[in-house]
Amino acid sequence: MQSLLDLFRLLPQAARMFSFDNTYMKLAIAEAIKASRRGEVPVGAVIVCRLKNEVISSASNRVIEFMDPTAHAEMIAIRKACQFRGSERLIDCDLYVTLEPCPMCAQAISFARIKRLYFGAADKKGGGVENGAIVFNAKSCHHKPEIYGDIMAESSEKLLRNFFKDRR
Ligand SMILES: [Zn+2]
Repeated sequence: MQSLLDLFRLLPQAARMFSFDNTYMKLAIAEAIKASRRGEVPVGAVIVCRLKNEVISSASNRVIEFMDPTAHAEMIAIRKACQFRGSERLIDCDLYVTLEPCPMCAQAISFARIKRLYFGAADKKGGGVENGAIVFNAKSCHHKPEIYGDIMAESSEKLLRNFFKDRR
């Protein structure tokens, strides 16, 4: 009986945890929407400091605007967060991104020592976390974050689908 009571006590806590995570993914989706309005592939990223529970950077794709093939949302968010922190490492930070990171961004996430990676839609063609190079499983990868995929994936997929449909 005691364990059942414990379970009920934990339920609101678990519910808070989930809505908490969605809050940051919603911010990442808002960033992705901003990218699509600028004609960029709609991908958005947010970096959160877990100790203070605060967003320390957010970004969306700016590849066309910056004429820079490395200007993915995650890369810009990591650069901004590191500059804000005055450090090349983000060990107490989590990254939320609307699409599975590509191999370049996955490697940057590893270099930055990000603690947890939350991503939305899987990317069979360009992803490097669950697909393609599966960067974090490589021997050359020295830091693997905790990985949580499929977070509000439908919203991110819909954004991408609509973006490419409109361009055809
Ligand atoms: Zn990338």
